[in-house]
This record gives sequence, C-alpha cells and structure tokens, in this order.
Amino acid sequence: MPDTLALDGGTPVRRISFPSVGTPGGRTLGVEEERAVVDVIRSGQLNSTVGGVTRGLEQDFARYYGVPHAVASGSGTSAIHLAVAAVDPDPGDEIITTGLSDAGTVLPILAQNAVPVFADVDPATGNLDVESVREHITPRTRAIIAVHLFGQPAPVAQLRELADAHGIVLIEDCAQAYLTAVGPDGALAGTVGHLGCFSLQQSKHITAGDGGLTITADDAFARRVRLFADKAWPRDTDERTHLFLGLNYRMTELQAAVARVQLTRLADVVDDRRRTAKALTEVVAGLAGLTPSASEGNSYWQFPVFVEPDAVGADAHWFARALAAEGIPASGGYIQRPLYLTPVFTERLTYGSSGYPLSSPPADAVPVYAPGLCPTTEELIAARLLVIAWNERYTSDDVADIAAALQKVHAGAGR
Ligand SMILES: *Cc1c(COP(=O)(O)O)cnc(C)c1O
Repeated sequence: MPDTLALDGGTPVRRISFPSVGTPGGRTLGVEEERAVVDVIRSGQLNSTVGGVTRGLEQDFARYYGVPHAVASGSGTSAIHLAVAAVDPDPGDEIITTGLSDAGTVLPILAQNAVPVFADVDPATGNLDVESVREHITPRTRAIIAVHLFGQPAPVAQLRELADAHGIVLIEDCAQAYLTAVGPDGALAGTVGHLGCFSLQQSKHITAGDGGLTITADDAFARRVRLFADKAWPRDTDERTHLFLGLNYRMTELQAAVARVQLTRLADVVDDRRRTAKALTEVVAGLAGLTPSASEGNSYWQFPVFVEPDAVGADAHWFARALAAEGIPASGGYIQRPLYLTPVFTERLTYGSSGYPLSSPPADAVPVYAPGLCPTTEELIAARLLVIAWNERYTSDDVADIAAALQKVHAGAGR
C-alpha cells in the first residue's frame, strides 16, 4: 500500500522550509557585499556619472562574457528595452518572441512602439520553436527575442542563422540563464545573438535587488544602448544635448557595488545548482510520464518537469499541489496565462485609449491576441509544465526530500 499523500491527509515528506531566494539562507550574499556598499556610501558618490563602480561592473561583466561591451541599467526589463531601442524599430514594426516568459521580455517591445508577434514553443523545453519563428517572419520583422527559459539553452545558433538570413537582429533574454552554455562549443547564452540581456532582480542567480546588463559585440549597438540609458546625453563630448529619445535607466553605484561582488560568486552558484539538479534529473528520468529538462548547458534557474497527463493520470497543477502539500516548493504552469492573454494585449491598454501600436496604423493590421494563438505554449501552461523551485543552497538532503516527495506523488497520481 503506497503512503497516503499529504494532499489526502497523510504525513508530509518534509516539514521544514527550503532555502529560497526570498530569505538570507537562499541567497549567496556575504560581508564582501556589505563592505562594497559601505565603501560607496563613504565615497559620497552614489551615482554612476560621478563614481566608478558601475563602469567597473560593466568592464568586469564584459570580460567575464568575453565581449567588448556591457552596459548596466536598473532592471532586466530595462536591459531588454535598451536592446530593443538599439534596434530602433519604426512604429508598427514587428518583433517575434515567446508568450511563455516574464512580462519583462515583451513590455519593452510595446514601449518602443513595436508590435510583439508570438511564435510557439518547443514542447520539450518551452523555448522558442525555430520553425514557428520562421513562419512568423514578415517584411516588417526587425528582431527576435529568444528566452532561455529556466536556464535551458534556447536554439540561438539556429535563430542567429535565421536572423542573419533575413537581415534582422537576435536579442537573447538571459535573465534566467547566467552561464547557460548553448551548443557543443560551449558558447555562453547572450553571446550568440547581437545583444544579450541579464537581470539582477531578487529571484535570479545573482542579485542586486534590481539591476540589468546588456552585452553586445557591436560598437554601434553599444553606443545606442549606452546613450539611451542616459537620456541620449553624449557626456564623452562635453556637450549637453540629447541626440535622440532616451530615458534614464542608469544603475546606481550601490547596486553596482553589490552586483560586482555577486559576479565573483556566479560560477560557484551555477556549479552548485547543476550538481544538485543532476541528482534530481536521474530520479525524474525514472518516472514514467515525467520528463526532466535536458541537463546539457542548463544553469537551472528553476527545475522544470514536463508532465504527460494522459500517461501519468494527473496534470502539472495537480503535481504542484500534491508536492506543495508534501512541503516541496513547486508550482504549475510557471505563469497563469500566456503573455498575449494579459489585459495589456487583449484590451490593448497601452497609451491612453489609442491602442497604439497595436492599432492600424502603425501596424499593417490590428494584431489578434486570443486563445489558440500558440497551442503548445497554452498546453504547457494549462497542464504540462511543473516547476520545482531551485536554489544553489540546496543540500543533498534537500534534494533527497524533493525526490522522495516526487516519487510518492507520482505513485499516488491518478488513484
Ligand atoms: C526576470 C525576467 C525579466 C525581467 O527582469 P526584471 O529585472 O525583473 O525587470 C525578463 N525576462 C525574463 C525571462 C525574466 O525571468
């Protein structure tokens, strides 16, 4: 007789909480960060236009990634907005992306008056499907934004080829994918596209509370990114003028001080996440109807499990509830609805009552955002995507509890 599930009143596998990104025990922060912040405060220079810490972070990050340029900003969303602004689309131009992501991937497209076009995703990863992207390219497509979901490598080598063939730009959203390796040569996510964007928000591999970094090997893109983040004010020329529409997306020296120390911890953070994820991957691979994500290149921001409800007798949302009852931090679907089914799209709540740029003009036709647009995206969210929270501070005992709970609920699924 299998154990009674905690969901049905049985004893939970686990009673104490796990390290999580919202608590000190689940963040890798130390006295070095404290000292760095204190040093900034004592210097009296808290803004990056007078201090040198943010410029130092940019240099460290560019060197770390082996690219000539990194530009810091206030958030991952702003890092992506800077990349879109560097592309400089005309109003109504199109940018192809995924509906299975954080809103920070797509809101910058609207902010820059371009039209988000949603391609569908690969059922095995939730990352963009290259064929679907190809089908959505039109004469108005200016860029593709690929997301490396949960740290799994998106097919950016193929997307870069596609982008080059059409003279458009590939932007990589690496907010969940520090040190994710893409392809057999081990290239890092963020360096295959024309621009790569990172986030330092609380929940990411490393954090400064909020913060963003945009990297590129292209000098012209780098200049536009840097200018846009600072009101398009060319400070290097001593001229107080504004060369085009830009905003203030500057990172503060306080954020940069923390981020610079965090960067020194990144390799260990990712190593630890990979090591513990490997143990759970082996367990999940042995459970019929459940598939772990491929470990190749993965940096494990979270630990996704792909559920076949017909084979296992329950969907991802049931698994999430059953695991939560066992004391395991898990959720179903990742997001509640595809990004294109949120009010900003369905009700076109953008600029006043204009619906701009989701209107014609500037779009060639009014885009339709409705259920059925990306069936695989919708199926993953509705039934197939189980997300187990992951953390570099998990011990092998923590992982053993997760594995035990998963085996227990798998045995009880559909009963
Ligand atoms: C977190 C995240 C963002 C946005 O980053 P913020 O720093 O929260 O603005 C964008 N894309 C993805 C995939 C994310 O996970």
